[in-house]
Amino acid sequence: MNERARVELRQSLRGELIAPADAGYEEACRLYNAMIDKRPRIIARCVDVADVITCVNFARDEGLLLAIRGGGHNGPGLGSCDGGLVIDLSLMKGVRVDTGRRTVRVDPGCTQGDVDHATHAFGLAVPAGIVSTTGIAGLTLGGGTGYLTRKFGLTIDNLIEADVVLADGSFVTASENEHQDLLWAMRGGGGNFGVVTSFVFRAHPVSTVHAGPIFWGIEHARSVMQRYREFISNAPEDLGSFIGLKSVPSTDPFPPEHWGKRICAVISCYNGPAADAEKALAPLLDGMPEPMLNWMSDMPFPALQTLFDPLLPEGLQWYWKGDFVKDLPDEAIDVHLAQAAEAPSELSLMHLYPIDGAVHRVAAGDSAWSERQAKWSMVIAAIDADPDKADALKRWGRSYWEAVHPFNLEGAYVNFMSDDEDDGRVRATYGRNYERLAALKRQYDPHNLFRVNQNIKPAAP
Ligand SMILES: Cc1cc2nc3c(=O)[nH]c(=O)nc-3n(C[C@H](O)[C@H](O)[C@H](O)COP(=O)(O)OP(=O)(O)OC[C@H]3O[C@@H](n4cnc5c(N)ncnc54)[C@H](O)[C@@H]3O)c2cc1C
Repeated sequence: MNERARVELRQSLRGELIAPADAGYEEACRLYNAMIDKRPRIIARCVDVADVITCVNFARDEGLLLAIRGGGHNGPGLGSCDGGLVIDLSLMKGVRVDTGRRTVRVDPGCTQGDVDHATHAFGLAVPAGIVSTTGIAGLTLGGGTGYLTRKFGLTIDNLIEADVVLADGSFVTASENEHQDLLWAMRGGGGNFGVVTSFVFRAHPVSTVHAGPIFWGIEHARSVMQRYREFISNAPEDLGSFIGLKSVPSTDPFPPEHWGKRICAVISCYNGPAADAEKALAPLLDGMPEPMLNWMSDMPFPALQTLFDPLLPEGLQWYWKGDFVKDLPDEAIDVHLAQAAEAPSELSLMHLYPIDGAVHRVAAGDSAWSERQAKWSMVIAAIDADPDKADALKRWGRSYWEAVHPFNLEGAYVNFMSDDEDDGRVRATYGRNYERLAALKRQYDPHNLFRVNQNIKPAAP
């Protein structure tokens, strides 16, 4: 790429172009996960579809590696790249709620919090993640799990339309009426098929929820996990509730006498009144040891969605591993407890997110996300503020995963995968849908322009 080409690109964008010599470059490179330090050649802060088309054409014609950045939250930093062009969508932040149709149109730079903020005003929510700062684009294209998943499905199960810039620079709308195969592929196939410039989701009535964490000391973790395993399968779908092995954060408002203690946590959201929530949770709590704390209370849904934000600011070191989990036998629980006990930092955690209920009512072949029989999506996240701990975090994440993986399914939620996964893992994740995805990749992106992702290779001609 010569200087002239770069100048021409700069002139043809409405948004800003940032190169290494520019003042804002360091800040523009920064990703949520500070363990990742990628140095793109150009960052294009697109502000409209025309900018995105220009950038796609430019990267393709100049033979530049191309990354797409939504919220920049991806664990292995797949929203950026070394030496290439980053299409940074973070300035495209509009959200429009259609109360009549109960749908929401969302721009690709929105975070989860942006969407929750806009929909809550109308007593609605889109089922998605549990941390407000996460980008809605990357989360959606990988699948999207959260508190509302059991009742309303994955985020992709609520994705009804997407505007997409394809590898040849053309612009299409994928919906249930046109380019249905593209919509199918983008329901879980990640950023493999194009740059999404607008999403339309179905929204659902959600307003004040009864929600919060319940902690038990680690000495009770085995019995809590055993009880939870049975409980969640029979719990009403209005209850979203995940279980984790983690530590009490050493900060307010947590009681100082518990700071840093290892715990088993169940974090729940009941979409309904407190009395119904208490009834729903009774089979988990009855006859169990007294929790260390039970902070279930009424709160607006967006407040729940920000509970983790202060604990997980941008700039920490993260290493991720995931798996789909079908069963949680006692032997697996013992492995979890042994591995979690070796956690290298207070923030490091293991979570099991239920993906049952409405997720199981969609057939495996109806979207790219093929794993509809697993009961949980597991994430092991090794997290700390200290960059000197990066190796220790990776070591623990990998060894925990190696120990527990034999009890789990072969594939994983693509958004909880790292960049050290091989092709086999991506294939296992998509299962029987992989061949169809590879064929669609050949159709929509035959030269694999969009390859900074959990990559689906174009099928051979
Ligand atoms: C603190 C934290 C909490 C999380 N909680 C949840 C959770 O509750 N539920 C859940 O499901 N996931 C969760 N995740 C995982 C999250 O889904 C992924 O990290 C996801 O990749 C974030 O999307 P992003 O837009 O911020 O990522 P980015 O880093 O910007 O992009 C990630 C990937 O998406 C692709 N992409 C982004 N935007 C577009 C676009 N417009 N068009 C095409 N491709 C695009 C990129 O190519 C890249 O491969 C969490 C992550 C973090 C860090």
